[in-house]
Amino acid sequence: MRFEISKVLDAIEGRVCTDPSLARAVVDLAEVIRWQDLDGGRPASLLRLGMVIDALSRQLEEDSVPVYAIVHRALLSDADLTSNERMVVRRWADDGLVEVLDQPGDRMLEVADLLGLPVLSRVRFDGLGGRWPWLGQAGRVLAPVPGAGGPVFIAHVGGGQTPASGSRSPAGAKLLARQWRCPEPGCALFGGGGGGGAFADLARVDRAPAGQPPPTLRNGVPSCPRHGARLGDAGPRPRTAVLAVRIGGLVRRRFVLTETQPVLVGRAPDATGGVVLGQWLNDEARRWISRNHVRFELRVGEVIVTDTSTNGSGVRPGGSMAEPDRIPLAPQQSRVLGEGDLVELYPGVQIGRADKVTSDAKFSPTSVMAEAPTMAMRLPRP
Ligand SMILES: [Zn+2]
Repeated sequence: MRFEISKVLDAIEGRVCTDPSLARAVVDLAEVIRWQDLDGGRPASLLRLGMVIDALSRQLEEDSVPVYAIVHRALLSDADLTSNERMVVRRWADDGLVEVLDQPGDRMLEVADLLGLPVLSRVRFDGLGGRWPWLGQAGRVLAPVPGAGGPVFIAHVGGGQTPASGSRSPAGAKLLARQWRCPEPGCALFGGGGGGGAFADLARVDRAPAGQPPPTLRNGVPSCPRHGARLGDAGPRPRTAVLAVRIGGLVRRRFVLTETQPVLVGRAPDATGGVVLGQWLNDEARRWISRNHVRFELRVGEVIVTDTSTNGSGVRPGGSMAEPDRIPLAPQQSRVLGEGDLVELYPGVQIGRADKVTSDAKFSPTSVMAEAPTMAMRLPRP
């Protein structure tokens, strides 16, 4: 049986990241790939990560939900994975999309603590509640197990079936207020330091430094989780705002706005880093919405929206859907976005601060497994 496994792996690649503003749960990849009961297939399979990401997406009722994956270095040469899968994980490691460690230890719990993220794991973490008190909170540790329509989550402790985020720990807030440099040349996580080369920064300009992962604390010293080296403080981290796109009542994706990088949103923006909406729009919306429809900027903590379209947009103050409340935004006009305000590009196509935008329609997420055959998900015959 043949199918486009590379397309599935590409889709999964779009859902792994170490950006503290975007990741929605933490996983240990070595654990996830061996949950054989999820599909009854090979001893290890990278596709199981896709199944878990889909389950997370269903539970959070959001599309394009990324996970923060911790990868034991041994996995890069794990003979139970196909050579193609090993190559893909190595590429993720080289690009800093995942965190590779020699000794993962409790890094998964540390990341969850620093970022306030839920952990997707079957490990029970008994006796660790003293060090990580949030382990007992509902939805903070969930075990993905087989369910009728793919994996479902159960709790070992604390109850809850829906992954729940907490707030960043005080240590996390402190570490994430600064940007960090690893002295190791070409470090994919805290790059640009030492002999990384004059262009090491430029190569990663789209994710660093606002999207740097949290350092690990070794005896209280911020260190590189990959290299163990003490990290240099490279100044304050740029401010960010996380925005979310809702189309037809469903949150389709989030994106990060920084003070150095305006973001264009439209049918098919010209600029790299632009947010492309085309694939979610119906014909009418596609005709109405310009290639570059609106531009978002972050200035001194304020989100400013500028219409760059042919047809104009609107702002819904406080998210109000009442027609008389809608404030038209003419082409080239700018406006400071209030806390709960939504920018409306077309009826049903809205953008606002991520914490104020939720899905309000019956949710059926876009599966990262769309290219996988249903056969691969069935138990093999003896
Ligand atoms: Zn490093």
